[in-house]
Amino acid sequence: MTLPSPDGATPAMAQWFSLKAEHPEALLFFRMGDFYELFFSDAEAASAALDIALTTRGTHGDIAIPMCGVPVGAASTYLARLIRRGFRVAVAEQTEPPRKPGKGGPKGPLARAVVRLVTPGTLTEDELLEAGRQNLLVAVAPQAGRAAAARGWGVAWIDISTGTFETAHVAPDGLMNLLGRLDPAEILASGDVDLGDFAARRAPEVLVPQVATARRRMAETFNAASLDAFGTFSDEEAVAGAMALEYIRRSQAGQMPRLARPRPHDDGGTLGLDPATRTSLDLLRTREGGSEHTLFASVCRTVTAPGNRLLAEWIAAPLTRPDAIAARQEGWSWMLDEGGVRATLRQGLRGTPDIARALGRLSLGRGLPRDAAAIRDGLATARRIARALSDGRTPPPPLLAGLLGHLGEATALEARLGQALAADLPARLEDGGVIAAGFDPELDAERALRDDSRRVIAGLQNDYAQKFGLASLKIRHHAQLGYVVEVPAAAAGRLRERTDLILRQGTASASRFSTEELVSLDRRIAEAAERAATRERLVFATLVRDILDEAALPQIAEALALLDVLQSCADLAAGGMWCRPEVGDDASFMLVSCRHPVVEAALPRSERFTPNDCSLDPARRVMLLTGPNMAGKSTFLRQNALAVILAQAGLPVPAKSARIGVVDRLFSRVGASDDLARGRSTFMVEMTETAAILNQAGPRSLVVVDEIGRGTATLDGLAIAWSVLEAMHSTLRCRSIFATHFHELAELAESLPRLSPHTMSVREWRGQVVFQHEVVPGSARRSWGVHVARLAGVPEPVVRRAARLLAGLEKERATGTRPLPLFAPADSDGGQETAAGSGQDLPPAVRDMLDRLDPDELTPRTALDAVYALKKLM
Ligand code: ADP
Repeated sequence: MTLPSPDGATPAMAQWFSLKAEHPEALLFFRMGDFYELFFSDAEAASAALDIALTTRGTHGDIAIPMCGVPVGAASTYLARLIRRGFRVAVAEQTEPPRKPGKGGPKGPLARAVVRLVTPGTLTEDELLEAGRQNLLVAVAPQAGRAAAARGWGVAWIDISTGTFETAHVAPDGLMNLLGRLDPAEILASGDVDLGDFAARRAPEVLVPQVATARRRMAETFNAASLDAFGTFSDEEAVAGAMALEYIRRSQAGQMPRLARPRPHDDGGTLGLDPATRTSLDLLRTREGGSEHTLFASVCRTVTAPGNRLLAEWIAAPLTRPDAIAARQEGWSWMLDEGGVRATLRQGLRGTPDIARALGRLSLGRGLPRDAAAIRDGLATARRIARALSDGRTPPPPLLAGLLGHLGEATALEARLGQALAADLPARLEDGGVIAAGFDPELDAERALRDDSRRVIAGLQNDYAQKFGLASLKIRHHAQLGYVVEVPAAAAGRLRERTDLILRQGTASASRFSTEELVSLDRRIAEAAERAATRERLVFATLVRDILDEAALPQIAEALALLDVLQSCADLAAGGMWCRPEVGDDASFMLVSCRHPVVEAALPRSERFTPNDCSLDPARRVMLLTGPNMAGKSTFLRQNALAVILAQAGLPVPAKSARIGVVDRLFSRVGASDDLARGRSTFMVEMTETAAILNQAGPRSLVVVDEIGRGTATLDGLAIAWSVLEAMHSTLRCRSIFATHFHELAELAESLPRLSPHTMSVREWRGQVVFQHEVVPGSARRSWGVHVARLAGVPEPVVRRAARLLAGLEKERATGTRPLPLFAPADSDGGQETAAGSGQDLPPAVRDMLDRLDPDELTPRTALDAVYALKKLM
């Protein structure tokens, strides 16, 4: 619904219209007392999304104004739901204190301003964030002055909840890989940038600055004379960085969170993984979006949210430099040797607060008392851990040594917070009682004044009861009236005559009076309370400043996260089932007794996972894998790809031993990746993905592919699989595992010297097939499809009929009485074409319909409908 014209609006609604005009694409949360109210189309959208009542308030022109509202105290829950449903919310607060009624002064609505735009990429509250994942705002800027296909990209990403700020310059075809790795919450890019599958995360409006302006803004934000102070940034990176900074500044109404200095990345330092590979491997999320049954879940033994986030980053971006990989391995191997250290760490880290996110909120002026307490408790943990680690027998490796030094820093801040914060903290600063007694004399004095007056009032009740001769008299505090004398209605008559009592309120059950004394005490209490609250806010603000001034805090947070990830690795490796892989610069590839950690974890207790070796050494670098469905082919393919990811992320690998020459790009095409929703046929998708591999894989890459050519006719498919296999073997020269149901391909081993045919071993036992999940040299002689059909519950008569047909076909094939098309000479193929093409014996209606169908125009849905229609016509 479009908004009506603001003409003729009441003063309050005129204010609403003008604030709404600043952020037309967002829902406006308009603060009125204890509620955020929404009006017009905002109200209709929010009430539907939140399932809350839609009412009306006043009229505008002739129509009643639709309205709904959410209580301020519960706002973050509602915000979370709206953001998850794709809304953006502008929060307008009252920027002047409520006016006292009756006094002169300004008229009209209270001043209000939008203090924050809440968008998916600019969240800071725990309620709105996933604890164990980054929440990234990503900006993309294309390289200027190039043809579209040759344009590189500047990419910048910021997590304002933790202050991370990084940039990268990526090659023309590298954008989707990087977006897949970052999994952005929100993307800033000008309208002409094609974001592919990520288009739904595009923010509505972006400002793209000039290069010079961008460089200056980046430098100014960090008080540096030049951006060069932080490293070398391409023009596009600077533009992307400035886009992100500007967006944050706007969304936070001018207030900047504290951000780490921007860090330019060398894209060449990470393993290339395209989005299809990530999807195929279920790294951090499964295809359905869940986090169970992922690689991450199967290796995660961290005990803190920051540790979770760091581990997720490692898995999302494995490395390619053996020395950097070895540094991580040394970190956890050291803990493995220092068994005591590991136990202490696990214990010490458990329940450690999230320092980085608490810092993020404090730096935006949105810090709660518990965020200050998080810093205090986090520092205490860091200090204890520093002490425990210094007890190790061998010195820590370099990766740790530097960071451990920071852990014991900031003791002065820890002590100060320890004295300043009360033991029992309220949820909000306004609730009072955040600062402990004895920390600030002035605050103590104001509180004493307030409390003394309260005590005097408590004493007055007795005095008044005697003075007025009424034992049932009480002194109560009343929200509107302040302190009053309250007596039962029946007794009130006796007091009404008295001149020292002023009747304020009479109800059926009680009457309330005030006295001059009470009024003056009430005022004193209110004033002292207000002074105490002001003072408390001031003291808290100085604490926040102290926290933000402590330069060691981000490093301490980083060190704790790293320790958590390393202990997680050590814990995994400690069982003896996970090894430390050797990762070198050569082309070797040897996994001994490797397992698929996710499939293994999902097996019922009664079943054991069968480990398999995989050798792709230069002399036999292409493995051809045949075998029936359900025998474990895809599991095997994926487990080798996962081993590479784990090894290059610096993590332990589920194998007896592993030696891997660094992989530069990994391609995995395993399992159905139906893209039918986007109107592309399965075969088209398959070929697009095959094309991507053939165009990008090189001698250092690893390719694991399943069933290339399955989506088309047998001959077509075989021909395509054949030529792709040849290209991998002889042109790309990459390490690859190629699973196929075309058993015929195994014969290529005679002409392709580096091809090593393998198959899944299958045993037949009393007429039943038993899959042993074991990969053995050789090739499959049969596909066992009929057996799998039986396993899947296809009715027995159908299975038996299929078995008979198969036996017949196999016999004919063996004796050559009726060759299968595959072995038919090329010219007989042509003969079949003509027979089918002439359509001699087809009913005319069918022929008619076929004539009208254009296969290239069909969507899968219409094709299916057509098949049904044709069947009916036959
Ligand atoms: P395919 O790709 O050959 O159709 P899958 O790899 O999907 O077969 O495996 C089918 C099922 O077999 C898996 O879901 C798993 O339960 C089991 N499986 C596969 N590999 C193994 C293994 N190595 N050890 C034990 N069970 C396995």
